[in-house]
Amino acid sequence: MKALPFFPPDVFEEDREKLLSLVYELGTGSEQRFVLGDQTARLEQALRESTGAEHVIACGSGTGALELCVRALEIGPGDEVIVPAFCCQPVASAVAGTGATPVFADVDPHTMVLDPAAVEPLITARTKALLPAHVFSVMADMGRLRELARSHRLALIEDSAVAQGAVLDGRPAGRWGDLGVFSFFQVKSFGTAGEGGVVLTDDAELARACRMLRDHGQDGVHRFLHHRVGLNSRFDEVLAAFQLHRLPGFPDRLERRARIADYYAERFEPLRTRGVAAPPAGRNGRCYYVYSLLAERREELRAWLTERRIGTHVYYPVPLPLQPAFAPWAPEGARWPHAERVSATNLAIPIWPHLTDSDVEYIADSVCAFVA
Ligand SMILES: *Cc1c(COP(=O)(O)O)cnc(C)c1O
Repeated sequence: MKALPFFPPDVFEEDREKLLSLVYELGTGSEQRFVLGDQTARLEQALRESTGAEHVIACGSGTGALELCVRALEIGPGDEVIVPAFCCQPVASAVAGTGATPVFADVDPHTMVLDPAAVEPLITARTKALLPAHVFSVMADMGRLRELARSHRLALIEDSAVAQGAVLDGRPAGRWGDLGVFSFFQVKSFGTAGEGGVVLTDDAELARACRMLRDHGQDGVHRFLHHRVGLNSRFDEVLAAFQLHRLPGFPDRLERRARIADYYAERFEPLRTRGVAAPPAGRNGRCYYVYSLLAERREELRAWLTERRIGTHVYYPVPLPLQPAFAPWAPEGARWPHAERVSATNLAIPIWPHLTDSDVEYIADSVCAFVA
C-alpha cells in the first residue's frame, strides 16, 4: 500500500510553472513592487466579490489578521477578550500582545468549538470582544455568539482562518463578526506557497484602521507619518498573483473535501458508540480543513493507522490556558474539562482534495477495522 501522508508535500505541483513565471514576471518587472501593489488590490477585490464583504484587507498571515482586528478595535490594557481554551495560539497571543487579557472559555465536547454557554458567565464590565474560532470541521455557533455580543454590546471577531468557503445558515464564514479573518497558510483550505491572510469587514472605519495598522500606522499617502502604533503585516505580490490564479479552482477543491467528509461521516456513524466519534454529518456550518475524530484509545488508533501508512495529526495536545506561555492568564483553580478531554482524544485523518476514492475507502476501512 502506498503511503498516504496527512498532508502531501506536492500540493502546488500542478501550479509550479505558473508560480515560477509569476516570480519571474514580478521579479523582473519594471515596477519592482513586491508588497501591497496591484496584485494585492486585485486579490482583495476578488475576495470582496466572493464573500460579499465591503472591505477586504490582505496582510502577512492569519495571525497578523487577528492582531489587526484586536488593534483596530483599540483593545488594550485593562480590557478582556473571551477566546476558546482549545484552539491555536494566535487567538490568545493577538489579545495578550496588546496588553489586554485573554479570558479562556471551554468548548463544546463534540464539535470542539467555543461553547456559548461557557462564554456568558465570563462576561464582565471589562469584556470588550468575543473571539470565537471555527476549528477543523465545524463552525462555531455564530448565531448565538452574535446574539451574546449584541446583547452585551461587545465586538465580535470571527476567527475563520480555517473556514474560508464554509457557509452557516446562508451566511459565509468570515462574515458573521464585526471583523473576520482568513489564513492562507499552506495547510489551510485556500493555502498558498508561503504566508498570508486577510481581514474582512463591512465597517469602513475598522477597515481604514486595519489598512493603516498593517503598514506601521501609515495612511498609504504620507510616508513616514505614523498615525498609530502599527505592525508590519504587509502582503506579498507574488503570492497575491498566485492566489488569484488558484481562486477559480477553490470551490472544486472544497467540494472534493466535502465529499470525502460525507463519505467518512457515513462510514464512521456506527463507531460513535464504540469509542470513535466523527464530526457531525451534513453541510451547513461545516468546514473541511481537517477531519478530526475523537478517539478514546487515540494513541492506539494512531499507531494502527501509522502501521497502515496513513498519516495522522494530533492538534493542540495542551489546551491554551495550560500552556506555559498563557499561564499568567489562567486563573488559579480554573478548569476547562472539555478542552482537556478533546486535547487528549482528537486525531485528524487525511482529507486533502487529491486523495482518490480508493485512498479514502482504504482510510475509512482502516479506522473501522481498528474498532472491529
Ligand atoms: C492557522 C490558524 C490561525 C493563524 O493563521 P496563520 O496564517 O498560520 O498565522 C489562526 N486561527 C486558527 C483557528 C488557525 O487554524
